[in-house]
Formats: sequence, C-alpha cells, structure tokens
Amino acid sequence: MQRRYILALLATALICVLILSGSNPVSRMIGAGDVSSDDASLSVDTFYLEQTREAAYVDTRVDFMAFLPGAFAHDTSVVTAELSVAKLDPQTQLWGSAERADVELLKSLGQIGLYGNYTFSSRGIYRVHMNVSAFTDATKTTVVTDMQSNEAIVQIVGNKPVAFTFDDGPHEYCTLQILDSFDQVGGRATFFVTGYRLEYEEGAALLRRMAETGHQIGNHRYTHKIHSPEMSDEEFKAEVIKTNEAIAAITGTTPVDFRFPWGDADPAKRRIVRDLGMRIWGWDSNIADGGDYSPLSEEATALYLDRIMQKVRPYEVMLFHDAENTYNSAAAISIALEKLTEQGYDFVTLNGLEELKR
Ligand SMILES: [Zn+2]
Repeated sequence: MQRRYILALLATALICVLILSGSNPVSRMIGAGDVSSDDASLSVDTFYLEQTREAAYVDTRVDFMAFLPGAFAHDTSVVTAELSVAKLDPQTQLWGSAERADVELLKSLGQIGLYGNYTFSSRGIYRVHMNVSAFTDATKTTVVTDMQSNEAIVQIVGNKPVAFTFDDGPHEYCTLQILDSFDQVGGRATFFVTGYRLEYEEGAALLRRMAETGHQIGNHRYTHKIHSPEMSDEEFKAEVIKTNEAIAAITGTTPVDFRFPWGDADPAKRRIVRDLGMRIWGWDSNIADGGDYSPLSEEATALYLDRIMQKVRPYEVMLFHDAENTYNSAAAISIALEKLTEQGYDFVTLNGLEELKR
C-alpha cells in the first residue's frame, strides 16, 4: 500500500463583490489567484468564485470551484472538500460563527473539479474557506497531516456601491480610525500608500491589517516630496519600485495600482507606470484636499461631513487623505459611513466597483 500522503493547497485571498438586489441575472468569474503548494507539481490550477443570481431570488448564491491537476484523476485517488463561510464581526474583528456547505466532486478525465455553493442572505463581508485533502489511497487510511485551504473574502453589497479612496497614509491615528470606521459598517476602501511610511512599525502594521481584511492597496510613490513631472524618469521609477517592494515585503503581494501624488503626471511617467504592469487611477470627487488641513474642531468636521454628503452618489470614486492633520476628515468619515449605510450605501474597493460596472 502506498503510504504517501499528498497535497497542501493554499490560495491567495481573492476579493469579489456581489449584488444583492437588482433586476439582471449575473454570472461572473470573479478572479483567480496564484496558488502555492508544498509540492509545486501538485498545486491547484485554478480557484475562483462565481456568482449566480437569479432575478426571482432575494438571496445571492455564490458558487465556488477549484480544479486539481490530473495527478488525482485516477481511480484510486480520493479527494474530499469542505466549504465553510464565516461572517466578520465588525465589533471585535474576529470571524463569527461558521456555517458549512458541502462540496461536490466532479471527477473527469484529466482533472478533478471541486464545486460548492453558499447562499448569502444579508449584506456584509464574509470569509470563505474551501478545505481540500487528497489521498492516493482509496481506503482513506492514509492520514493527511497538513490539510490547508483555499480562502476568499466576499463582500455582499446592495445597489448603491461607492468607492472611498485614501492617499498619503498610512497614518498612525487617522488611518487607524478610518479602518475601525469601515469595520463598523462592514465596508472596504482603497489606500494608495506612500512607501516611506512603511519604514515605521505603525505604518507596516496598518498595511498588514488592510491586506488581511480585504482592503485594496495601491502605490502612491515613496517620498511624496516633489511633483512627479519635476523628477527625472529614473528617480521616479526608482520610487515606484521601492514602494512596490516595501508593500510586497509586508503583505506578500506586489501592488498593481498606482495614483500620482497631486494627480500630476507627464506622458513619460505614465508610460513608466504602465510598463511596470500597473494601472493609473484618478478620482471623481476630491473631498478633503491636503490644502484644507486644520486643527480638529466640530466646525471643520461638520464641513467635511457636508461635503461628503453633497458629493456622494452611487458608483462615485471619492478622494480622501489619511495623513497628518486629516483628523477632521477622519472624524467626518466615521459619521458619514453610519449615515450612508442607513441610506443603503455600501463601501467597496476600486476593483470591486469595476466588477459591479461590468
Ligand atoms: Zn498624495
């Protein structure tokens, strides 16, 4: 009897955004991540989430699929899979009680498909696991000691999504308050971070928290000191790469999103960013420009709150800052998120918003 046990699966976190209400059925591939394994020759080919929404149903059903390579498609192999779904508790930032859905195996020539589904009945942010184990021993007497899982973060939203985006952080006070505010309402945002702030443990810890809880992370250059068009191309490129490396060292993922400081760029710099395989993002509404810095006060907070409430609309990309002296906007955001949640808004990442526009 072959005593060897096989398999360890680990996928990068995927994020997808789903619509709860609306009239058109949607079926969409959400994304696929690189998969690593203890034994590279046995890694999973694909893991993705697919949303299927029937117009007649209020609930959103999510289908989960993974494919194992051909090595397991022979008669004597046994593959088991289990799907679990947990809701993030915004108060404690711990994952709440898990519910389970079974996973069906579709074994065919050349590959094994793992299929499962789960129906979400309320808005919020969820983490789903697909645990997979495989045996070459048909009697399953072989013990799998290192079973790992595919994981994805899923956000279920309504029909008023909006993208809040933040430049210049992470900042030890303002970013912390902003992340807490998004957790309170079960929302997610996008942060274009400056590389030098990641040299400090506070900045690195905040970045790690963003990555682990499903926020989108982009590059906002390393120093933010002079305007990009005034830099040499070499100097500019070095700053972008250095920031990518700093982010990757902390999160394990190299960002592909970029926003120019002050939004100003010349064609050569734009080409440099694109040649690095990165996407350049802008914004629709600039809510709290750096020029508006002022000490924390009820009046200034109320002013920012007014601006947010006036500019907000579904599918808007809103620009904020999280840095020194953005205390008023951080305070206004925490109030705005509560108010807007009551109005049916959901806070999504830029990638999430793109998915919803398709
Ligand atoms: Zn900036």
